Parts: sequence; structure tokens; C-alpha cells
Amino acid sequence: MADEARGRVRAMVPARVARITDKVQNTYGAFVNHSVKCEDCKEVGWRCETAEELWQEYKAAQREARE
Ligand SMILES: [Zn+2]
Repeated sequence: MADEARGRVRAMVPARVARITDKVQNTYGAFVNHSVKCEDCKEVGWRCETAEELWQEYKAAQREARE
């Protein structure tokens, strides 16, 4: 039921926008997944190199989404 509703909403979004939106969600998900597992990133205010890379990918995807 909920999935059907999501499918209808998604169908109204142009394919290009839907793809970029997925990319934003995926890159953010990757960053969050890393952050909860990484010992270095558990320190408040600290991002390790991997986290920084994932974060930059997320920011790039966000910039794409705004264009
Ligand atoms: Zn990390």
C-alpha cells in the first residue's frame, strides 16, 4: 500500500530528477552508515578521510539536485 503510493509519486517525477534524488539519498546513507560503524567518526566533530570523501560525494549529489 505504502509502496504503491510511493510508486505513484515517483512516476510523476522526471526520470533525471528521480535518479539524482536517489543519488542524494544513497550518498547520504553511505555517509551515515560509515559514521555509525567507524571508531574515528564516533568522536564528536571529527570526520576521518573516508567520511570526508563520502560527505563530499553527498554534497556533490546535492549540488546536482539543485541544478
Ligand atoms: Zn570514519
